[in-house]
Amino acid sequence: MEILAPAGNMKALKSAVAAGADAVYLGAGDFNARSKAENFGKNELRLAVSYCHDRGVRVYLTLNTLVKSQETEKALSEAKDAADAGVDAFIVQDLALALKIQKLLPDMPLHASTQMGIHNAYGAAFAKKAGFDRIIFSRESLPADILQSKEATNLETEFFVHGAHCVSFSGNCYFSALVSGYSGNRGKCLQLCRKRYTLTDGNKSKTGYMLSAKDICLLKNLSILEKAGIDSLKIEGRLRSPEYVSTVTEAYRKALDGKVPDITNVKTVFNRGDYSQAYVIDDRPDIIYDLTQNNIGSYTGNVTDIKGNTITVKGYKSSDGDGFKILRHGKEAGSAVCKNGKIFYTDSVKLGDEVRLTKKSSLERRTEVLISESDKREKIENFKVLSRKNHCSISDIVLNSYDLPCNNTNSCVILRVNEYTDKRLYPHTDIIILSPALYDANKIKTLIKDFNKPALLELPVEARGKDCDILLDIKDMNIFDGYVANNIYALEMFGDKPLVCGEQMNFLSEYKCTKIISEESAVAGKEDIVPIFMREIFMNLTHCPSRQLGYTCGKCTERPLYLIDENRNQMPLRRKKLYYCYHELLNSKIKNISDRLNRDIHKRLLIDARNIDGKKVYTALKDPYNLRFDEKTETRGRWGKGVK
Ligand SMILES: [Zn+2]
Repeated sequence: MEILAPAGNMKALKSAVAAGADAVYLGAGDFNARSKAENFGKNELRLAVSYCHDRGVRVYLTLNTLVKSQETEKALSEAKDAADAGVDAFIVQDLALALKIQKLLPDMPLHASTQMGIHNAYGAAFAKKAGFDRIIFSRESLPADILQSKEATNLETEFFVHGAHCVSFSGNCYFSALVSGYSGNRGKCLQLCRKRYTLTDGNKSKTGYMLSAKDICLLKNLSILEKAGIDSLKIEGRLRSPEYVSTVTEAYRKALDGKVPDITNVKTVFNRGDYSQAYVIDDRPDIIYDLTQNNIGSYTGNVTDIKGNTITVKGYKSSDGDGFKILRHGKEAGSAVCKNGKIFYTDSVKLGDEVRLTKKSSLERRTEVLISESDKREKIENFKVLSRKNHCSISDIVLNSYDLPCNNTNSCVILRVNEYTDKRLYPHTDIIILSPALYDANKIKTLIKDFNKPALLELPVEARGKDCDILLDIKDMNIFDGYVANNIYALEMFGDKPLVCGEQMNFLSEYKCTKIISEESAVAGKEDIVPIFMREIFMNLTHCPSRQLGYTCGKCTERPLYLIDENRNQMPLRRKKLYYCYHELLNSKIKNISDRLNRDIHKRLLIDARNIDGKKVYTALKDPYNLRFDEKTETRGRWGKGVK
């Protein structure tokens, strides 16, 4: 297995190489998912690549953001520069960009970014047809699904083994974009998941970092990944320090070489919530740590004595320059530093408080030593750059697009419903999309009997393990006119059926298919379906939030959940159940762009009845171009503005 380490700058890159990484990944220019990292300029990229190649290490370039049409040229010119610099592969999210890269640089291997959301064998099969050499699986993927993908495609497989875990399914988090305009899908995430919220069902409530996922650490689970067919172990952290990169990389190197890694050092350099194992050993894990969202380092000891502004920690061997966090009942109470052999604290401290090492000066020195050794390492002659293996192309994929039964002169209204929608709304629309809360073949069959309209089934963003069987059972009934895809697995699983690309397919630039425009889009063309009245989806959660209130997952039915932010906005959590339960975090406000539409262009309108009062939906259906806008409870979304 390959160890793939992050390189946010030249020093981090050197420390990755020095600590035994087989490959590094880095960003250059504007189109990478960590726009806040230093990243690499054109000349620096050349230096970085030759430093790595001279030492037998591969370099993968992240081009993993969604790209707007007007930016494509710039993205391609950056891709060309990177290819000239000698990088070994590109990591790509945007299908339209991937297609253009395939035309421009036909020999460049492409890796399907985790932002693409591949998590089952159907998604993997689509990635193969699209010409990708490697799949970087979603963090939510189950080992059995990864193995099935590997066996079906024989593509290279990569998995995040260490570091931060986005709480929303990657590629489908719109929270930052819709609240602030800074899009997580374009590398500008404001990390709203790390803020405090109150989770409530009206009966029980809990306040804390309710969306903050623990970091992942799979140091002890590498054999499971090996059995699942994983080829590359990816360490997250392009914003982290060089000593983080070297310490974590070294630990995984040791674990792979059958030696015992130093987990205490790994925790010291960054540890959020004492780690989860993602969905690798438990398919319904507890991934949230609500006490603090910061690094809690490694446990050193408890405060045994306080004298003036210094404390004594039993068992700690003092080393100047070390830094600490002080925790009380798991929450941050203060911090401390070691100077002249003594520990000085700031803020408050009490006897018995837990002291956690968050900065170890000896690790910083060790990183410097490792780098200087690596600098002197004998160079490898004629290191061979990788070449593309999979020569399929996205341009060969023909999507079976659903033709809307609409004429071009009149407007056509599509209503999206679930089992809670008032049936009296059905006659006032042209087409119905069913997006059920419960995916159950028999229940769905009964529901659509009342539609008396062309009916489409909306497919969920995620379908893991037995979820796929449920979807295939529904497909077998053959009762829908078409399906709405929100992830690429659906393009494969339902590829023989008429398809509409849903807004969560994230097509910002052109890609030929009937599509509902993304909530991040500012404009829509004549053929596009425009959501005009709906509650936008902020996040797609794979873990069960009910568990955080002490309920058992599986019994999480029918209980309306809300997340309340610091401004008292009450955001509904909508449950979707297949075999596993999923939750969508929704906007507290309703998006309404009715009076901003151009009747001559925008003729295909989508009104989403879910989580909105039936009377309001009725008014919207009656006169979709002239709905009054309510400043207090409604929003324009990103319409007319787009995202940064
Ligand atoms: Zn649940």
